[in-house]
Amino acid sequence: MKSSLVQIKKIWGRVFIYPKKPAGVWHQRRVVVAVLLLLGLFLFPHLKMNGEQLVLLNFIERKFVFFGLIFTPQDFHLFALAMLFGMIFIVCFTVIFGRLWCGWACPQTIFMEMIFRKIEYWIEGDAQKQKKLDAQPWDFEKISKKGSKHLLFLLISFAIANTFLAYIIGSEQLFQIISEPLQSHWVGFASIILFTLIFYLVFAYVREVVCTVICPYGRLQGVLLDNKSLVVAYDVNRGEPRGPKLRVEDPLNVKGDCVDCGLCVQVCPTGIDIREGTQLECVNCTACIDSCNQVMQKLNRAENLIGFHTQEYIKYKKPFVLSMKAYGYAAILLVVAIVFSSLIYKREEVETTVLRASGTLYQIKGDSISNLYTVQLINKTNRDITFKMASENKQDSIFFIQAPSILKRESELSLTFFLYKKTSQLNSFKSEVKFKVQSEGKLISTAKSTFFAPNN
Ligand code: SF4
Ligand code: SF4
Repeated sequence: MKSSLVQIKKIWGRVFIYPKKPAGVWHQRRVVVAVLLLLGLFLFPHLKMNGEQLVLLNFIERKFVFFGLIFTPQDFHLFALAMLFGMIFIVCFTVIFGRLWCGWACPQTIFMEMIFRKIEYWIEGDAQKQKKLDAQPWDFEKISKKGSKHLLFLLISFAIANTFLAYIIGSEQLFQIISEPLQSHWVGFASIILFTLIFYLVFAYVREVVCTVICPYGRLQGVLLDNKSLVVAYDVNRGEPRGPKLRVEDPLNVKGDCVDCGLCVQVCPTGIDIREGTQLECVNCTACIDSCNQVMQKLNRAENLIGFHTQEYIKYKKPFVLSMKAYGYAAILLVVAIVFSSLIYKREEVETTVLRASGTLYQIKGDSISNLYTVQLINKTNRDITFKMASENKQDSIFFIQAPSILKRESELSLTFFLYKKTSQLNSFKSEVKFKVQSEGKLISTAKSTFFAPNN
């Protein structure tokens, strides 16, 4: 049944699908979303905020930038929390909307269906024409069409590889690789070529296998979806028994609304028949909804025989409501979001860590006691910071072994200093001391440590 409806070809054992060109209201909506996302994806590495690339994910130098905020390895807890937030969000989103992410926002689907597949339709025509072209000998038409298609595939893969690297190494460094002599940047150049070939291989050969076999998210669906999840589904109660529309109605052979035209299968980019139920391979691309709606319009029947339905709607015609599971995930998501936002809000641009110098206790000097410390200052901004450090207790005094006052941009500084306290102020062997770091009269960071003094 499947192979008769889905048009396929085999190359080196790999079964290729010829999906029919999608069209309809849902497809138009997807095009709008895809254009906006692609604009964002290609523009973000070239836009700046607070002097930094809008989004940078430099794993090599362990520097991450999001909308002007620089994150360093010291912010690992924030990174871990952001990952946790992302995972809970995906779980919560999937419980409510199924695999909507895959069809509408995943870069793999957007590039595949909205760029590469569209180029294929443009050059080779719709599914039937593609099939005919593949079957014909390597004449001028086939060579020119296949050649121009794969050349365009390579050029777009090159653009994607450059964008991908712009997120990793930064757009300025990428521009240097492209504009300066090859011998100065052969590693960078080799990376561009390698990623171009990887993207080309993915979009020209691997294609929907990424979604149906490789991607682990698709496998999670079975665990996450329930009867209340909104997924692309066939209303089996309305559609069955399927069969061609009868010219004269026969009360002994009443047909459902599905006329078994096979269009929903022919248009599916993953080659499945949604009438067989929700399947792991379905990426919720909505192409089958559009096709079926067009058939229903022609037959003057209600739309959405295939649509965004819950199993509860199909079985009992119950309207869509959020499940308790969805509320539970949403509550956890809210808690993580509040914790994450408060940590971001409290995050200091300069991180200060004060540690007592090992092997030392205290020194007595006249009416004062001193302790020796090392301080590590990390500047997380992209500007040099002139700073002063002092104890929060105004009667204490600090004496630095070195006398620095400038903390260079995105750098660390380690200093050693003595803290002097008046003996009259000390009444215990161990007490807490608080330090403040100021710049241009503003408090930019604080730190704590301990102070030792002789027991009175
Ligand atoms: S497009 Fe609609 S009518 Fe045609 S086979 Fe699919 S479900 Fe049935
Ligand atoms: S079954 Fe429908 S929504 Fe799912 S992948 Fe196929 S065409 Fe897209």
